[in-house]
Amino acid sequence: MTDKMQAAVVEEFGKPLVLKEVDIPTPGPGQILVKTEACGVCHTDLHAMNGDWPLKPNLPFIPGHEGVGIVTAIGAGVTAVKEGDRVGVPWLYSACGHCEFCLSARETVCASAEFGGYTQNGGFAEYILADPKYVAHIPANLSARDAAPLICAGITSYKGIKETQAKPGEWVVISGIGGLGHLGVQYAKALGLKVCAVDIDDGKLEHAKRLGADAVVNAKYGDPIAEVVEITKGGAHGVLITAPSLPAFKQGVGMTRKFGTCVLVGLPPGEFPTPLFDVVANCITIRGSFVGNRKDMAEALAFAADGKVKADIELQPLSAINDVFKRLDHGEVPSRVVIEFAK
Ligand code: NAD
Ligand code: ZN
Ligand code: ZN
Repeated sequence: MTDKMQAAVVEEFGKPLVLKEVDIPTPGPGQILVKTEACGVCHTDLHAMNGDWPLKPNLPFIPGHEGVGIVTAIGAGVTAVKEGDRVGVPWLYSACGHCEFCLSARETVCASAEFGGYTQNGGFAEYILADPKYVAHIPANLSARDAAPLICAGITSYKGIKETQAKPGEWVVISGIGGLGHLGVQYAKALGLKVCAVDIDDGKLEHAKRLGADAVVNAKYGDPIAEVVEITKGGAHGVLITAPSLPAFKQGVGMTRKFGTCVLVGLPPGEFPTPLFDVVANCITIRGSFVGNRKDMAEALAFAADGKVKADIELQPLSAINDVFKRLDHGEVPSRVVIEFAK
């Protein structure tokens, strides 16, 4: 092992990542070192690079929170994993373990939570330091490249669909058929739901159909709310908004059936207008959902291990990261790019 590794670093918000050699970190007590095999590129990495959100990471930092690799070193006192295990280093990098939210398995909102590729260095590097108590355990029959998108896009869309509380046979709208949404369509079908996919790109909608969507609506044309209400005969029981675009949010609320739930997971910066009378008079629930807990992670991975969900991936080397970000920003990534590292 050399003591340097290749990494893609955000040194200034809104500027391209800098590819450079940095020191390989050493695991301290309770920490592990993971040799990265693959890391998916999430739209959140783009928000992180742009400094889009109120809580900003400290500069410089290494993004990437869909990193999967092999544990190569463990610090003192680590028992949760051993050398040679394949693990994922997720957005929920660590939490306190004893606040009211941690105690009730709502650990993603822990006030002391650290976020991978944001407040802690992430997977756009050959090695990642991780907290073994919070890593994802990758099922034996999943490759690193197939597992990587599940570590964020998979768990987030799976959990978001559960949070709609739609029941088998009922309708869900998945708005935004990118990294999260293309997996969301598959999870929703595996859960026995009827799926109406919404996007502004016909190619993404064609893809949603191939993945099992029962209906598709292009939100760029006509009246997408009226179309969804017509298709679902009154609105969808659950709506999951993954689109990183503000107009999708107001539309999503309008697509929600009476007493239905509209779950927000997309995180474009800003606010959206809420039609208050409709929400009140139709008894609609609007709720946020933030990745998922460790049990959600295990469940989301199990669907893939059972062959019910599979990420569509395009492999790229780390050196292509700035080009990938540009394409992601322009909606030109078909589903998920996974950065693959040399063995
Ligand atoms: P992506 O770029 O892969 O996919 C976004 C999709 O939305 C694209 O298919 C695009 O065509 C579509 N879209 C754009 N505008 C639209 C509109 N007006 N209506 C419908 N569809 C539209 O992005 P991703 O990696 O899937 O991430 C999506 C969002 O989710 C980002 O904002 C990301 O930060 C956020 N996110 C949130 C969580 C969470 O825990 N809440 C977790 C991961 C990602
Ligand atoms: Zn993500
Ligand atoms: Zn906590």
